[in-house]
Amino acid sequence: MLESPLLAQTKGFMGGRWTGAADGATLTVTNPATGEALAQVSAMGRADAERAIQSAHDALATPSTLAQRQQWLERIADALQDERRELGRILSLEHGKPWAEAQGEVDYAAGFFRFCASHIDALEPRTLSEQPRNCRWTVHHRPAGVAALITPWNFPIGMIAKKLSAALAAGCPSVIKPAAQTPLTMIALFSLLERELDLPAGMVNLVIGPAAPIGEAFCQHPDVAVISFTGSTAVGQLLMRECADQVKRLSLELGGNAPFIVFEDADLESAADHLVANKFRGGGQTCVCANRILVQASVMDRFSTLLADRVRQLQAGDGMDPDTDLGPLINRAGHDKVRRHLLDALDQGATLVHGQDPGAQLEDWGAFFPPVVIRDVTPTMACSREETFGPLVPLMPFQDEDAALALANDTPYGLAAYLFTADRERADRCIAALRFGHVGHNTGTGPTPEAPFGGMKLSGFGREGGLEGLFEFVEVQTLARAT
Ligand code: NAP
Repeated sequence: MLESPLLAQTKGFMGGRWTGAADGATLTVTNPATGEALAQVSAMGRADAERAIQSAHDALATPSTLAQRQQWLERIADALQDERRELGRILSLEHGKPWAEAQGEVDYAAGFFRFCASHIDALEPRTLSEQPRNCRWTVHHRPAGVAALITPWNFPIGMIAKKLSAALAAGCPSVIKPAAQTPLTMIALFSLLERELDLPAGMVNLVIGPAAPIGEAFCQHPDVAVISFTGSTAVGQLLMRECADQVKRLSLELGGNAPFIVFEDADLESAADHLVANKFRGGGQTCVCANRILVQASVMDRFSTLLADRVRQLQAGDGMDPDTDLGPLINRAGHDKVRRHLLDALDQGATLVHGQDPGAQLEDWGAFFPPVVIRDVTPTMACSREETFGPLVPLMPFQDEDAALALANDTPYGLAAYLFTADRERADRCIAALRFGHVGHNTGTGPTPEAPFGGMKLSGFGREGGLEGLFEFVEVQTLARAT
């Protein structure tokens, strides 16, 4: 079992107190690298979620000032950075990603609290310079109300930081549901909040347990004003349907299918470096991971060699081993999906450049999938149509700019895209034509706290990070006062 000063409790949290499931149920959290049980945590249900919502609603009766919220945000950022090693250790053990990478995720999370703290004055009321209709006009940014925040397992602290920082900045009490596979980092965050801050009771609440009943409570309870969700498009669609009757406000950060376009005039060495950094973060399990690598046919041979040279050096293993570059996939289902994509592609004529089919694993843990690079990939293969979420790098050839754009946009998803070319005019033409919320030119970098990030099309709507993200949890109220 995992021992940590930040895991003295393994329960939910509501009304300022650690609280277990009403029926005493628990679930087991396991280390995906070893299959070992890390902890038993409360498995809460619908009634528990409703109590947490009530606690959050009660907290609305104690409004906070922007100055107070700024202090909270700064204190959280400091606490995260002070505890980056221990939080990173817990994160690595329950997710599988390398410990150093997990500490980087903690820094990334701290950045969102820091950004919201330093830009919170954007939420001050704004008085219009014009005075139409003989009135003085002021725009107020009111807390939207209770915010339900649902996060996935692939960034156990990064994803909640994006939401919680903006919700706190807006003055919204929140009820948080982490993924059942990775609740320990969230519990550790709540330990820090309890230890380091004097938040009003009910300002932050934690509900851990099976998703469907908790999700239903969030969607159906009239006191939940906004749901901010990061996860799969299928669950996002379900939440939209369930929230329709109450016209509940939603922010949806959903799945992707990112193209990574390499033109023949690009710096190919740099493109290969960026691809490796982008693709293998989190073991290939990120929404912004390059999923379809589109390479101009004239440089396919050279680029695939450069890539294979780099990928060959990557080591899959336990995230706590300092030599590990990528950890295990989160579970057997994740492993089976990557393998299905690989076998489907090989079956349809793709060829191996590096790596091989790891075979079906007999154990139900330790779903290590050593990196594989394939070429001669076509748009109809499963790896082109679906998000692979793993260390499979499929190279697809294209002839010219029009073909590259047609292939890149040939997806219902619109989260992230990358293009590598030395031709600035071509880059600007392509960027304008790409229907993706985040585009990297000559870089594979993903989101940062300072810039808005979010999707188009089936990748969702709403933005996290940047000033746009800061406004995600406020209601705009316009006051016309007679002069
Ligand atoms: P998921 O199955 O949709 O789960 C995400 C969260 O939703 C988890 O907390 C899950 O709980 C919960 N959930 C599942 N069913 C629910 C329901 N009926 N009602 C309410 N909540 C429910 O997604 P995932 O497989 O964990 O995450 C991977 C997906 O997230 C990928 O598609 C990835 O692209 C996407 N993602 C997007 C972004 C972005 O910024 N756009 C960032 C990261 C990940 P349980 O874990 O308890 O089932």
